[in-house]
Amino acid sequence: MTERIPVSKRTRFEVFKRDGFVCAYCGAHPPDAVMECDHVIPVVAGGTNDIDNLVTACMACNRGKAGVELSSIPSTVAEKSIELEEREAQVRAYYEIQAQKKDRLEQEMWSVADVFMERFGDDSIQRTRLASIQMFLGKLEFFEVLEAMELGTNRKYSRGAAFSYFCGVCWRKIRRNNGEDI
Ligand SMILES: [Zn+2]
Repeated sequence: MTERIPVSKRTRFEVFKRDGFVCAYCGAHPPDAVMECDHVIPVVAGGTNDIDNLVTACMACNRGKAGVELSSIPSTVAEKSIELEEREAQVRAYYEIQAQKKDRLEQEMWSVADVFMERFGDDSIQRTRLASIQMFLGKLEFFEVLEAMELGTNRKYSRGAAFSYFCGVCWRKIRRNNGEDI
């Protein structure tokens, strides 16, 4: 049997961060689940500990023991405290990533809103319009939403018409991304 070399904590966290601390199989994340690294190509089949061969998986999915009691796995007190420490680090890192995501989304929202406000020389924008921009950013890539806003504001439209045009372009992109006929 192939010798299994444990994945270092550093490598594990690199993989977790890349995957957003979300289990590739069931979508679980901290604090509800403890994350592990699963080998895409199994070690027995020659898979390495290279991050390209690793994917984030919750303990239940990785060990094929859905619903297993997390505390039932470590066998010694020392193992248990190491695991607890890492579990806390995972929860902290997960929330940090969520906060960064929120900041980024907010920045993106204002970048799109700025295009609209600059076009009309406004220094404010309706709350409902901001909410629409945010909603589209949740469904599309930033550059797609920005592009839609540039299309909407490139014409000699009124504010209302420009924003409607922007929304129309976004919905078309969403339907196209979903593979619907447009
Ligand atoms: Zn899972």
